[in-house]
Amino acid sequence: MSRLNPRQQEAVQYISGPLLVLAGAGSGKTSVITRKIAYLVRDCGIQARHIVAVTFTNKAAREMKERVGLLLRGSEARGLTVSTFHNLGLNIIRKEHQRLGYKPGFSIFDQQDAKALISDLLQGEGDAELADSIQHCISNWKNDLILPEQAQLNARTPDQQLAATLYEHYQRTLKAYNAVDFDDLILIPVMLFRNHPDVLEKWQFRIRYMLVDEYQDTNTSQYLLVQMLVGQQARFTVVGDDDQSIYAWRGARPENLVQLKQDYPSLKVVMLEQNYRSTSRILRAANTLIANNPHVFEKQLWSELGYGDPIRVIRCRNEEAEAERVATDIQLQHLRHKRAWKDFAILYRGNHQSRLIEMKLQHHQVPYHISGGTSFFSRQEVKDIMAYLRLLVNPDDDNALLRVINVPRREIGPATLEKLSGFADQRQLSLFRACLENDIEQQLDARTSERLQRFGQWLEGIRQRCYGDEPMLALRDLVIDLDYENWLRQNCSSDEIAAKRMGNVWFLIDALKTSLEKAEEEDGNIEDAISRLVLRDMLDRQEEEEDVDRVQLMTLHASKGLEYPHVFIMGMEEEILPHRSSIEADSVEEERRLTYVGITRARQTLTFSLAARRRQFGEVIDCLPSRFLDELPQEDLEWEGRDDAPPEQKQARGREALADIRSLLKRHDD
Ligand code: ATP
Ligand code: MG
Repeated sequence: MSRLNPRQQEAVQYISGPLLVLAGAGSGKTSVITRKIAYLVRDCGIQARHIVAVTFTNKAAREMKERVGLLLRGSEARGLTVSTFHNLGLNIIRKEHQRLGYKPGFSIFDQQDAKALISDLLQGEGDAELADSIQHCISNWKNDLILPEQAQLNARTPDQQLAATLYEHYQRTLKAYNAVDFDDLILIPVMLFRNHPDVLEKWQFRIRYMLVDEYQDTNTSQYLLVQMLVGQQARFTVVGDDDQSIYAWRGARPENLVQLKQDYPSLKVVMLEQNYRSTSRILRAANTLIANNPHVFEKQLWSELGYGDPIRVIRCRNEEAEAERVATDIQLQHLRHKRAWKDFAILYRGNHQSRLIEMKLQHHQVPYHISGGTSFFSRQEVKDIMAYLRLLVNPDDDNALLRVINVPRREIGPATLEKLSGFADQRQLSLFRACLENDIEQQLDARTSERLQRFGQWLEGIRQRCYGDEPMLALRDLVIDLDYENWLRQNCSSDEIAAKRMGNVWFLIDALKTSLEKAEEEDGNIEDAISRLVLRDMLDRQEEEEDVDRVQLMTLHASKGLEYPHVFIMGMEEEILPHRSSIEADSVEEERRLTYVGITRARQTLTFSLAARRRQFGEVIDCLPSRFLDELPQEDLEWEGRDDAPPEQKQARGREALADIRSLLKRHDD
């Protein structure tokens, strides 16, 4: 266990009032939080169940739990909450659902579900882009704690009026579905605490000390949630770095760091300056780049880890050559320097950039893992089965019912659905409950009503079993009764793809099993297990547990807080990094911070890559190197494959590299 420096020590031991640790990347902010949790339990006698630590991602929460686990005995850490803001909010809503007027088993709509609902509410008017922008609008309102009535009052333009009207419908529909969306997970607790001081008091009593990591990325509602939970006593430690604020587009307000001083005049501020992560060269690059942004707080970062290797900039012909180059470079380093796969991270601006590099890594048989991607949960088959699961614990979720009613085909057409929904409205029932009504026959012809009833009764049977002794068995039967495998085979271009997708279904069911075991430990049931799964908590955990040796791929956003010995940042081009939309919106500063985050993930080596040409929107376009490359200290950069190198030379170099790999591979096999 490393020894804390005096400033870190001070931050850990200061508990008499509110504390802000403001410091650059890799200076040990997260380490302060972890050590402080142990200090609070061991030295201050605060029981772990009275401590709440909030991090930004599930991955970060998991890592923090692990780190605390090394410092405390299991019994000492019992009841400790280390979670994301969303998970904390979910916990509060779950415990207070009655008062809030939600039935247990409420559904959580992810962004895709929310967008689909908005499109429905638009009733065919407008396109996907409109639904997108309305969703964005609603999300911003929620993050700023603006309720529908207020939004309507504030609306000036017709666009805003439309969005505000939809916001109102959207909220009412969510409530009718017994559902909440992601932003509600924070908004609802804040509103609850505002309107019910007695409930707030209960939670304040439970939470004696609060710690928040990555504080620069809290939005207004999160800021208020913390403020309410810590109350007058203001026993909290928050840590952050304004230069790493990269979520302004999602409502994050780095100004909260300044606001804090105004709201808490007694706030103590500790600055950390020693970086324990990166070589001086990497730090210098990071410092030089970020100096181009205006600063409220001046920070100095230095490191004792030596000057380090030059920063490589690999320039390639096109995006395919770039991916090929990065893949073979990693392979070469792995073989030549015996570097473990998991010591490499490949970072990029947007998720779509991962496709090519994935292909190349596969081609070269380099094991890799994409973390933080939402891909698993956005797969059709996973969404289908999740919709069934949601319906099982929340029969009011009409949205889920509409998704599954014809998966697999049950010959229930739009006209039937319209009648069913009219009937349900009349009775004030959800669609699923309406299917179970006896006199539905009076509304529809015999064959159709029988189909609906059969579906309803079958699902209701499974539902009841889910609350019995063997919920997992019931869920397995669900998948088998559906004959989902067959349905996939009919709908996939090959049996191989169908089998793969069926594998995902079983993977989901397995994840649910783990989630259920975990929920049962905390006296929860299948409802808790499913909502946990919706927040991806469990699945991430499962994936990570098989922590095998793999190259890590992720977006720059997802890399926040993490560190790797060798980092590659791909697509260092204008319009990619900085992103085109940010250039247009004149928000290049945030892109610079994003690049700063990327650079400071690296411990020993840093490599940038870029392409001279790239296919975009079906067209091949010429790309310019990113302005951020110009802003780095040029003497620390080592350019490779420059465009001005004669083609023969480049080819020769390519051949050399290939021969190199071949001979190394051969030696490796021997
Ligand atoms: P970021 O801004 O990227 O989130 P951070 O400020 O949270 O970074 P940490 O992740 O806590 O920094 O620490 C960076 C690295 O430095 C970690 O590997 C950590 O173990 C190490 N470290 C932190 N403090 C010390 C110390 N006093 N002595 C040695 N190593 C340390
Ligand atoms: Mg950190």
